[in-house]
Amino acid sequence: MKITIWGTRGSLPAPSPENNLYGGNTSCVSVMQGDTLVVLDAGSGIRRLGQHFPPGITRVDILLTHLHLDHIMGLGFFMPLYNPKIRVNIWGPTGYKESLFTRLQRYLSPPLFPIRLQDLPSQPNVYEINESAFDIGPFHIKSAYICHPGPTIGFRMENGRSTLTYIPDHEPALGAAHFPNEPEWTSGYGLALGADLLIHDGQYTPEEYAPRVGWGHSTMEQALQFAEITAVKKVLFFHHDPAHTDEQIRQQLGRAVSNRQFSFEAAVAVEGEVIYLPE
Ligand SMILES: [Zn+2]
Ligand SMILES: [Zn+2]
Repeated sequence: MKITIWGTRGSLPAPSPENNLYGGNTSCVSVMQGDTLVVLDAGSGIRRLGQHFPPGITRVDILLTHLHLDHIMGLGFFMPLYNPKIRVNIWGPTGYKESLFTRLQRYLSPPLFPIRLQDLPSQPNVYEINESAFDIGPFHIKSAYICHPGPTIGFRMENGRSTLTYIPDHEPALGAAHFPNEPEWTSGYGLALGADLLIHDGQYTPEEYAPRVGWGHSTMEQALQFAEITAVKKVLFFHHDPAHTDEQIRQQLGRAVSNRQFSFEAAVAVEGEVIYLPE
């Protein structure tokens, strides 16, 4: 499977000369195998995926982890939604009261956006998921609720040979009496266990995290602990803080890893990078 990172930033796009390396667009990752295209989150990075839409693709499935603006803000700018020849399926978490369609429509309708969700030429299908398992093309996909404010899910995608886990906004240390000492009781454990690649929240430094407990995000140190207990092969730190420059993110990584040896690889997600996992 071909994994392309279109947006790495959390909370708000942060384009600037100091952020050119890791990128300024918010969460969006595409996963492709054969003619199956799955998109994880629709942050501002999805606009560029629309511009580079693979020729011949007539169906795209967009999987939303949650409806915070940084994960849906690119939807209205994703050109395949304006092409009636392309079938677009949008999957996202069940809410407490309102349907996913109604909640998405709050953004995709005036005055926030000029075009209504139901008026988009592709007439997207909207599917609600929670603790679910389903197949899209060669991918077997599992979703499960994870620890983040509001209904939020993470995804595990398997193609029979490789596993990708995507949990961009996640605070597994919250509410866990002994994080990371009780793996099976840790939020996201089942989604990440043994994955070849884990894309995980690493937004804060320890100093930034201390006054933000409960905001739903992690430090790189916590992401490393989570990667350790779930025995993944590689962790990619994601959802970079909009206030962090490339240099600060480099320092954040250096400090978190600080010459320690891990049984897995750890790196910072870079906007535009492509990663292949065996098919
Ligand atoms: Zn986010
Ligand atoms: Zn969020």
